[in-house]
Amino acid sequence: MDKLDSKQPIRVGVLGFGGLGQAAARVLSSKREMKFVATADLHGYLYQPDGINSDQAIKAHQDKGSIGHLGQLSENSIKELIQLAEVDGYFLALPNLPNTFISDVVDIFQAVGWRGVLVDALKRTSALELMLLKQESLQKAEITYLSGCGATPGLLTAAANIAAQSYSEVHQVEITFGVGIANWESYKATIREDIGHLAEFSIEQARTMTDDEIKLLLQSRNGILKLENMEHADDLMLERLGICSREQVKVGGIVDTYNAKKPLSTNVKVTGRTFEGKISTHTFILGDETSMAANVCGPAFGYLKSGFTLHQKKIYGIFTAAEIMPQFVT
Ligand code: NAD
Repeated sequence: MDKLDSKQPIRVGVLGFGGLGQAAARVLSSKREMKFVATADLHGYLYQPDGINSDQAIKAHQDKGSIGHLGQLSENSIKELIQLAEVDGYFLALPNLPNTFISDVVDIFQAVGWRGVLVDALKRTSALELMLLKQESLQKAEITYLSGCGATPGLLTAAANIAAQSYSEVHQVEITFGVGIANWESYKATIREDIGHLAEFSIEQARTMTDDEIKLLLQSRNGILKLENMEHADDLMLERLGICSREQVKVGGIVDTYNAKKPLSTNVKVTGRTFEGKISTHTFILGDETSMAANVCGPAFGYLKSGFTLHQKKIYGIFTAAEIMPQFVT
């Protein structure tokens, strides 16, 4: 517990400096318990042990296209950064295309002998399945890994776990999200991966589409992506906890890529039967003013803090966002 007890900030890195990575940097700039010291994008990395100025980093990225212009340009940025930097925990704000990408990044951490806390915000059930296979190797590497720590899976899955406690039997968990972003290019990986969830597209097709093709697709739908029955790891997380079977979990939503206003209120509905035989539904609705970035980055750091508590108790291996309570970061 030394860091949290001694009030020394936890040294945090953010891998990926796109939409979520930059939002994560802004979230960290107001935290006392965490210090943002390292980040990487596709073309470079930045390590400043005394703390990175988030505004300066975001401006450098916007002006020059890579954080490496402020730090170090590199085509092997993740490996070089994690070997060099003294970091207690990383948020992986990286694309997960192909579906093995995050899993491959975790292999790099293990290969270089890094130890600490990692959190991701991955989405697909099959991606979480790959991560769960790493239980033993993560334990051996002394890494505490929390997976699916965004909004969905993440915040809403954890809320579903809490809501389920009123029931003897859970019948359905229905997650419906509304996302509004003014410009799809601010969240390229998120939109690309959402396209991979559309019935007409495979993940591989979404991965190889050019930016112009994505722009045309969005134009043809007036900027709206309507997503139904998505392959989302909320199902596996709730099934692992014995709350319900994965078929009873439904995830879908609407993403408006032309408007920052949410097209609908993000919510999770949990229906079940109480011990008295009453059927009821709990509904947890997120405030419309909270952006996707707020609902992903807030939980990601809340889980990172919980990961620390576990790591300091020498509890290593993989956990999901539904089985650990995030801790509020001040
Ligand atoms: P983005 O495209 O805006 O940014 C991705 C960043 O990763 C960029 O900085 C890019 O340079 C960097 N990157 C790509 N390949 C790299 C490599 N090999 N080495 C180093 N850096 C590399 O992405 P985004 O929209 O911020 O999304 C990030 C992830 O968050 C996506 O996988 C998305 O699905 C996920 N997400 C999860 C939730 C949730 O609720 N769970 C919600 C939204 C987004």
